Amino acid sequence: SNNTDFLLSIENLSVSFDGFKAVNDLNLYVDENEIHVIIGPNGAGKTTVLDLICGRTKATAGSIKFRQKELTQLREHEIVLEGVGRKFQNPSIYEDLTVFENLELSFPRGRSVFGALTFKRDAEVTTRVREIAEMVFLDTLLDMQAALLSHGQKQWLEIGMLLIQDPELLMLDEPVAGMSVSERKQTAKLLNEITKGRSVMVVEHDMKFVEDIAHRVTVLHQGKILSEGSMAKVQADPKVIDVYLGH
Ligand code: ADP
Repeated sequence: SNNTDFLLSIENLSVSFDGFKAVNDLNLYVDENEIHVIIGPNGAGKTTVLDLICGRTKATAGSIKFRQKELTQLREHEIVLEGVGRKFQNPSIYEDLTVFENLELSFPRGRSVFGALTFKRDAEVTTRVREIAEMVFLDTLLDMQAALLSHGQKQWLEIGMLLIQDPELLMLDEPVAGMSVSERKQTAKLLNEITKGRSVMVVEHDMKFVEDIAHRVTVLHQGKILSEGSMAKVQADPKVIDVYLGH
C-alpha cells in the first residue's frame, strides 16, 4: 500500500517490557488536520504509543514515519525539532512566572552567528505570545502569575507553550482530566481551532469529549487495535462494547 500521504505512519510497531508486549505489531496512521483519539481500557498501551512517538520509549521493532522521516532512531529533543509536541498529564509550567513569561520562554530561540542563544523580546515574540494567549483563552491574564491560574487554565497554558513552537503534530494525554464542563467545551473548541494546519493525537477516557472532538478513533486493547474509524462506528462495535464501553 502507499501510505506516503499521511502525516504520521506507524507500521508494525512493538515494544516489550520484560517480555510483556505493551504495543504489539501496531499499524496506525494520522492524516493532516486530523484529531485522532486513542481510547481503550487501562493498560491497553495508549500512553506507551505516545511515548514511542515522542522518543521517550524506544521501540523493540517497527517504524514511525513523520512525513517521510523515520523517528525511531531519533532522540526526544530531535523529535521535538521535527515538529512533534507532547503534553503530559501534569502541567510543566513555571509557576513563579507570569502567563506572558511562560509563553515567551517557550518561543523557539534561534542561534546567533557566535553560537550563543539569542533572547529576543522583540515585536515578533510579543505579537506571537498575544496570538497564542488569545487562542488558549488567556489573553486577559498575561500578567498573572501562573501559580494563580485554575487547573484548566494551567492545562491551556501548557498547550499554548507547545503551540508557540508551531508543532505539526501535537499529542495530548487526557487533556480534560479535572476540567469543568465549560472548560471541556472550550478545550474542544481550541482543538478544533488548532487542527487548521496541524494534527492532534489525544488519549482520552471522557467519551462525551471524544464524541465532540474525534475525527477518527482508534480503540486499543492489549497493545493491538480492537476497532478503528468514526466514533459512531467504534461505539457500535460489539467488540468495543464487550471490552471497554460496556463497563
Ligand atoms: P494505557 O495508557 O492504555 O493505560 P500504558 O501504555 O500506560 O497503558 O501501559 C501499557 C502496559 O505497559 C501496562 O501493562 C503498563 O504497566 C506497561 N508499561 C508501560 N510503560 C512501562 C515501562 N516503562 N516499563 C514497564 N512496563 C510498562
